[in-house]
Amino acid sequence: MPSSTSHSSRLRGVRVLVAGAGLAGLSAARDLERDGAVVTLIEARDRIGGRLWTIRTGFADGQHAEGGADIIEREQAPVVALARDLGLRLAPILRGGFDYYGPRADGRLAIQSLDRTFGEIGSLLAPLVEAYQLTERNWDGTIARALGQQSVADWLAHRRAGRDVLERFRGLRGLFLADPDDLSLLALVDFLADGAAGAAGGASRVRGGNDQLATKLAASLHARPRLGSRLRQVVQTRRRVSATIDGPSGRAIWRGDFVIAAMPASTLADVGFQPALPAVQQRAIRTLRYGPATRVVLQFDRRFWRRVGRARAFGSDRAHGAVWDGNEEQRGPGMLSLLAGGRASEEIKAMLAVGGPQAVVRSLRWLGAPSRLLATRVVRWEDDPWAKGGYAYFHPGFDPAWRAELGRPFGRVLFAGEHTSARWQGYLSGAVESGRRAAAELVVLAGDWP
Ligand SMILES: Cc1cc2nc3c(=O)[nH]c(=O)nc-3n(C[C@H](O)[C@H](O)[C@H](O)COP(=O)(O)OP(=O)(O)OC[C@H]3O[C@@H](n4cnc5c(N)ncnc54)[C@H](O)[C@@H]3O)c2cc1C
Repeated sequence: MPSSTSHSSRLRGVRVLVAGAGLAGLSAARDLERDGAVVTLIEARDRIGGRLWTIRTGFADGQHAEGGADIIEREQAPVVALARDLGLRLAPILRGGFDYYGPRADGRLAIQSLDRTFGEIGSLLAPLVEAYQLTERNWDGTIARALGQQSVADWLAHRRAGRDVLERFRGLRGLFLADPDDLSLLALVDFLADGAAGAAGGASRVRGGNDQLATKLAASLHARPRLGSRLRQVVQTRRRVSATIDGPSGRAIWRGDFVIAAMPASTLADVGFQPALPAVQQRAIRTLRYGPATRVVLQFDRRFWRRVGRARAFGSDRAHGAVWDGNEEQRGPGMLSLLAGGRASEEIKAMLAVGGPQAVVRSLRWLGAPSRLLATRVVRWEDDPWAKGGYAYFHPGFDPAWRAELGRPFGRVLFAGEHTSARWQGYLSGAVESGRRAAAELVVLAGDWP
């Protein structure tokens, strides 16, 4: 969706509190200000950006690395449009797409084509994908409910899939942040129905660091983000809303017209609402899970993994998780970026506890003889109090019909964030689009549309 550049005064004088200065909250704030609203933007952390976080210290040669969102795929129109609007340059990366490292049918570990891996998974699931497509990808129907009640592992067990097939499916935890016994079959079918599988190139990251998406967006706002400020409670009447905020100088009450909660469901669950949110919405928020995700960045004096004709990115079911060239667009030393999702997050933690970063380096010998390690950075998103995980995933205990509840406005309170996006859940684009959607809904609720 192209971003709006039109300015209007249809929200003139309307006071809005946006809680959460990730890409969702910042995108909402921008659209609201363009319509004349008076925005107050609060953020619990001491920085903006949320799960979009470029690590700028601790690496040799002044290099930087992405601690959260890294890859922007070409088809991610909302975030690509945002980068363009902000005058940011996207550097093409990982042109050879992803390959896969894991056991072959004979049990031997090897680098294999990801297309083949996904191709196999795709053909196994094709009848389910077809039925689901006939529902126009509706999550509130018979087919979605049947798919959503089963885990991927249950379905494979029912089909008496062999060990090698199970292991291949386990490799998907680098993407979904959930192992096959924890991931709803519907989540996987939905992904395949989107035709997005097999990342065939077209990836990029922002030259100079992805965090500029947040910093430039924030710089374009009148509202200055109030850092260290946590939303605790929201009380609303038919005409007004007030919010209790714990900030650096104590507790304060904000009063205004609307609140946009642009935070993960994992922390939204700790916010009090008066009157209470509808029971089904509460259940949806509390039942949604966030996947464990450990990002490890390893900086080496040489890019020892490079080979002519070989991919620079690999999915894997191993403890180190997915691994890719983390700084192709920067000169000087090379970096490998690892994303250990689902139970791989615990596995890589154990590896680090026993053998330190060198144990992880040793586990990557299949890429070639490692060169000198210059720096290491580990980010465990499940330990982050303001995210409590990498991103949302759908498990068999989550009734698919609840999905629409995650983003449904409640009186003068609206909801945004990656987890509320139907098309781009788990991606930067989901944050951008959901923030813009909440801002557009607010215009309707304020009574000035169409
Ligand atoms: C390891 C990792 C890898 C990823 N890789 C990719 C990728 O390659 N490509 C991609 O497109 N996406 C990727 N993502 C997903 C992407 O980062 C997210 O979808 C997106 O950044 C979410 O934005 P958001 O605004 O919805 O939430 P957030 O970025 O989490 O922003 C919400 C903000 O709300 C704040 N907050 C929380 N609670 C409160 C409260 N009570 N009061 C006030 N503030 C509060 C938080 O501190 C946070 O700043 C990745 C994420 C992770 C963690």
